[in-house]
Amino acid sequence: MSTTAIVLAAGQGKRMGSKVAKQYLLIKDKPVLYYTLKAFENSLINKIIVVTGSGEEEYCKREIVEAYGFGKVVAIVSGGKERYHSVNKGLEAVCKYVPDCKYVFIHDGARPFVTEEIIQRAYEQVKKSKACVVGMPVKDTIKIADEEGFAKNTPNRNLVWAVQTPQVFEFSLIKAAYEKLIEKENSLKQQGVLITDDAMVAETFTEEKVKLVEGSYENIKITTPEDLKIAEVLL
Ligand code: C5P
Repeated sequence: MSTTAIVLAAGQGKRMGSKVAKQYLLIKDKPVLYYTLKAFENSLINKIIVVTGSGEEEYCKREIVEAYGFGKVVAIVSGGKERYHSVNKGLEAVCKYVPDCKYVFIHDGARPFVTEEIIQRAYEQVKKSKACVVGMPVKDTIKIADEEGFAKNTPNRNLVWAVQTPQVFEFSLIKAAYEKLIEKENSLKQQGVLITDDAMVAETFTEEKVKLVEGSYENIKITTPEDLKIAEVLL
């Protein structure tokens, strides 16, 4: 029985405003994706599948996977238009390359500060509850806005978490949920539903509850140029 990580690196990073996709930008001379893969390579994970932009597979293989000797990477596949398309491609690759996969860790390639401890905590939890996601309680008060940009209501801050990755599932559970999502994709789009994380797919298409597991305030996603400066400091 294997535990697999799907590392997503197929985003274009429009909010970064750079020609180079954010997962290939450098922090202290090494690409963001290097740090992410290193964390999984040095963890309890058995196999890694990297999902990269279409046409970037060779570059990723040569410049990252081979250059830094990440031996757990069993496949590099191309992603899709939205994050959930890329996840779906990753799940299909798990069926093909890791047929004995029991648990899958879905992780943003642009989140390089995931640690072995976070991976271990999520692993302990998924064995108990089949579905869990890493996150942290919010520090700021959160407002739900209406369409005109006025504050509509204020959720109880003690119950609000900012969700991170990895998001971790029993493989058969999340694979079946994604199959349903892809089947219903068009009708969900018409209803204006935005699929922004994997927990949401599990919440919508399975009966399992998704447990929140403590991540870290340092487990940031590199999204905008100031995140790169924060990343240098964190390193
Ligand atoms: O765009 P966002 O910041 O939510 O992306 C989170 C992660 O998902 C990033 O690591 C990005 O590379 C990945 N992604 C992807 N395929 C997409 C969009 C995002 O693999 N179509």
